[in-house]
Amino acid sequence: MKKLSILAIILLSVLSVFGQTSHRKLVITHLTGDFYIYTTYQKFKGHLTPSNSMYMLTKKGTVLFDTPWDATQFQPLLDSIKVKHHQPVVMCIATHSHSDRTAGLEYYRQQGIKTYTTTQTDRISTTTNEKRATLLISKDSTFNIGGHHFETYYPGPGHN
Ligand SMILES: [Zn+2]
Repeated sequence: MKKLSILAIILLSVLSVFGQTSHRKLVITHLTGDFYIYTTYQKFKGHLTPSNSMYMLTKKGTVLFDTPWDATQFQPLLDSIKVKHHQPVVMCIATHSHSDRTAGLEYYRQQGIKTYTTTQTDRISTTTNEKRATLLISKDSTFNIGGHHFETYYPGPGHN
């Protein structure tokens, strides 16, 4: 049984880049087992800033945690997963309301991917006019997908 802490994703999610003059737009690195980190970038307060997110391979397709921050990378991420792992993305869970987590939700819904956030995140996204998911998680939940079992819960607010 694998447990996944959304908190870990949040802790990984924003790091500053210093002295970097050029960069790849999408970087995928193996974390462990069926888990991979994907990194996209945006200018934030004048600095090119990476956003780390994660995906998980399952026997029923890939689960994305959050979406690329860079809108030019929504489709390249799907294409990279298809080429690298020979499977489609079937589900996407955004872990907080900012665009570094939610920017691709509408695009992925249009691709037939099931998109999720919590009701709490959805309330904030509605107020701040961020992209919203179709399916809402109203309490701590357990998902069983393609041989992986994971839980979602509220560990506290995302970064400021
Ligand atoms: Zn954020």
